[in-house]
Amino acid sequence: MRKEIASGIAHEVNNPITFVMAGVSHLRECLQNLTAIGIEIEGGAGIEAIRERWQVLGGVRGVEDLFETLADVEEGATRVRDVVRDMRAMNSANGRPPAMLDVNDEIRSAVRVAGAEVRQHAAIHVALASDASVLGHAGRLSQVVANLLINAGQAIATTGRLGTIQVRSWVDEDKVFTEVRDDGPGIPADSVMRVFDAFFTTKKSGNGLGLSISRKIVRFHGGELLAESVPDGGASFTIVLPRWTKDMDRRCEAGVPDAVI
Ligand code: ADP
Repeated sequence: MRKEIASGIAHEVNNPITFVMAGVSHLRECLQNLTAIGIEIEGGAGIEAIRERWQVLGGVRGVEDLFETLADVEEGATRVRDVVRDMRAMNSANGRPPAMLDVNDEIRSAVRVAGAEVRQHAAIHVALASDASVLGHAGRLSQVVANLLINAGQAIATTGRLGTIQVRSWVDEDKVFTEVRDDGPGIPADSVMRVFDAFFTTKKSGNGLGLSISRKIVRFHGGELLAESVPDGGASFTIVLPRWTKDMDRRCEAGVPDAVI
C-alpha cells in the first residue's frame, strides 16, 4: 500500500475517533447526572432538589440532545468501520474470484481512503452514473482510483495553489468509464506514453510504479487505463471497463495474481 494511502487512512480513522471519544465523554457525564438524580429519588429527596439537578442536565431538551450525541458517535464508528473495510478489501482482493460490483462503490471507497491526503491540495467533486456494474475485484479497482487521486493531488501540489479534481463515472452500452481529471500542470506531450512505464517518475520520492501497476490491474479486468493532458491545463486518466452482463458469471476466472500487485 502506498504510504500516502496509509497516512490518509490514519487521518480518516483519527478524525472520527476524536468525535467518538468526545461523544462518549459527554454521554458519561450525563449518565453520572442521571444516576445522581436516581439516587436522590430513591433516597426520598424533595421535588425541588430533584428539579434542580434535572435543570443542570438541561431538562427534557438536554436529555433529548443525547440522542444526537449518540447519532454522532454512531456515525463516527461507522466511518471507522468503512475505512477499515476499504483497507481490508485493498489488501485481500488477491485470490478471490471476481464478482459483480458497482464501480461507484469503488470510487467512494477510494475517496474515503485517499480523500484526507488529497484534500490538502484540491477539492474533490464526484459525479456518478447509475448502473455502473462490472465484473471485478473490489479493493483492486478502488486501489487504482486511489492511486489516480493521489497522483492528481500531488500534481496540483506542485502548482502551489488549491486545485480541483473531478471524479466521474458514466456508461455506454457495453462499457463503464471512470475519469479522474485534475487542473494541475498536466503531462508534457513526450511523457504521456511513458507515464505507464514501470519506474518512470518525475517525483523526488516517487518510484514510478503506481500507474504501471494500475494499468495491469485494469487490463486484468479486460479494460484499459488511458492518460491524456487536458487542453486547458491538467491531466485526465480514464479507466474503461467492460460493463457487467449476465453471462460473465459463467466465465469467472481466478483472482488477480499476486504478481500483478
Ligand atoms: P510516481 O507517483 O511514483 O511517480 P506513477 O506511476 O504513479 O509513479 O506516476 C508516474 C509519473 O506520471 C509521475 O511521476 C508524473 O510525472 C506522471 N503523472 C501521474 N499522474 C499525473 C497527473 N495527474 N498529472 C501530471 N503528471 C502525472
